[in-house]
Amino acid sequence: MDHRFDVAERFAAGTAFVAGAPVTDADGREQEVIDPSTGEVVLRYAGAGPREVDAAVAAARAAQPEWDALGPAGRSTALRRLAVRLEEIAPDLVFAESLQCGKPERLSREFDVPGSVDNVDFFAGAARRLDGLAVAEYSPDHTSGVRREPLGVVGSIAPWNYPLQMAVWKVLPAVAAGNTAVLKPAENTPLTSVMLAEAARDAGVPPGVINIVPGEGPVAGEHLATHPDVAMVSFTGSTEVGHRVAGLAAGAGKRTHLELGGKAPFVVFDDADPEAAVHGAVAACLINSGQDCTAATRAIVHRSVFDAFVSGVADLMSGVRVGDPFDPDTDIGPLISPAHRDRVAGFVERARGAGARVVTGGRMPTHTPPGGAHYRPTLITDVARDAEIVRREVFGPVLVALPFDTDDEALDLANDTPYGLAASVWSRDAYRTARASRELRAGCVWVNDHIPIISEMPHGGRDASGYGKDMSIYSFEEYTTVKHVMQDITAVARKPWHRTVFTPR
Ligand code: NAD
Repeated sequence: MDHRFDVAERFAAGTAFVAGAPVTDADGREQEVIDPSTGEVVLRYAGAGPREVDAAVAAARAAQPEWDALGPAGRSTALRRLAVRLEEIAPDLVFAESLQCGKPERLSREFDVPGSVDNVDFFAGAARRLDGLAVAEYSPDHTSGVRREPLGVVGSIAPWNYPLQMAVWKVLPAVAAGNTAVLKPAENTPLTSVMLAEAARDAGVPPGVINIVPGEGPVAGEHLATHPDVAMVSFTGSTEVGHRVAGLAAGAGKRTHLELGGKAPFVVFDDADPEAAVHGAVAACLINSGQDCTAATRAIVHRSVFDAFVSGVADLMSGVRVGDPFDPDTDIGPLISPAHRDRVAGFVERARGAGARVVTGGRMPTHTPPGGAHYRPTLITDVARDAEIVRREVFGPVLVALPFDTDDEALDLANDTPYGLAASVWSRDAYRTARASRELRAGCVWVNDHIPIISEMPHGGRDASGYGKDMSIYSFEEYTTVKHVMQDITAVARKPWHRTVFTPR
């Protein structure tokens, strides 16, 4: 069944969603949603400006006490209904997500949308497990307990690569813990965030709990990050912008959580299953056209299997079908925009100019529409470890392969990056993989796989990849504050410690 719809008609009421209703006359600059596979504008909308951000924060602030007072079971019930509602509208979400990002429909249908529904479902359950330390007595005169309390209004800023998943990752732990949320999605991919807020309304989540303000980063984003009634700022995006946002928010005394860029190593030892490593590398590099913060970007491969790995990856990559996201035969769609494609191509051309070997790819396909932002899967070798393409985040379908001779060298190369988001190690030797799991500096280490995520486990990086966790109950550490309640159990008015301060006469 075809679930395509006319986007301009569907979002005619506006894209900002505040206090349970769309805002028809937002006061920000006009924004465009463009189909990156053709270059066609599918929606022009008035971006959210400071006025909508103020209204959204006010709505979130007004809604928060009652939402919190619903308690874990009450919030859980509403969020479970949201998961059901999202499942009902899954085909529409798949269409909108693929249209605005250019990701293959198959990826939206089998990964983005079910992953998002599962995450909502997880947080519906986790809302009932906001545990702290059990009651304890560390002083003979007191009982201590811990209250885990929401912060208030959470301001979230999300990127364009996985718009629905990012919206869910940012909003769900916040609201499950009793906060209310104002989310600023990337201005070029607002559609599924708005659909999430509409689904929440349809599921009976009270107005004001989830608000969406699509608008420009420096305008709507900075206004949100510095708003006096926002208690915490949660950001996912590039390292550069994340540092700026955290600086602004921290300067205003707010808690921050940053999920930033990555440059994941993919370490292949000589005893790895060669076919699994080759297939794993191609999938982990090309998922979402390589626009994935955890994508495999640096294949670090033992010299004895290096040539076989390179030719295996090149063979698979050259057969990858790049094209229309809605063609079931398409493996990877376009990048997010021609400007981003040109940025990716620039990295490859500079590497080529510096003497790197482009084994496959390194060009645009010839059969895709001229307005499309497609780029061929690309494998690069013969680069120095400090080359730009080895060090900087390219965020495209580009894999660099580097050989190594010893285990020490492999781990040293893998850790030679400012980033620390994800890494993988491929070997059949349990001692090797255990050592690598300990020594690789990253928020996630996969063993004989690369990319899978699950709602129950944390996602987040270190160093230039940020700090704090999305998903799992670990994310509640970001979105709650722990209050110590210490209660006297002696019923004695005149306590010995008082005498240290004053001596009653
Ligand atoms: P970006 O940093 O350009 O934009 C992210 C968001 O910040 C957008 O909503 C944008 O409008 C907003 N923004 C831009 N300037 C701003 C400002 N001055 N103040 C406030 N907000 C501002 O990133 P992008 O290009 O949308 O996304 C790609 C980046 O995101 C990559 O670096 C990728 O690695 C990273 N990413 C990280 C994770 C993770 O979990 N670590 C997940 C997805 C993407």
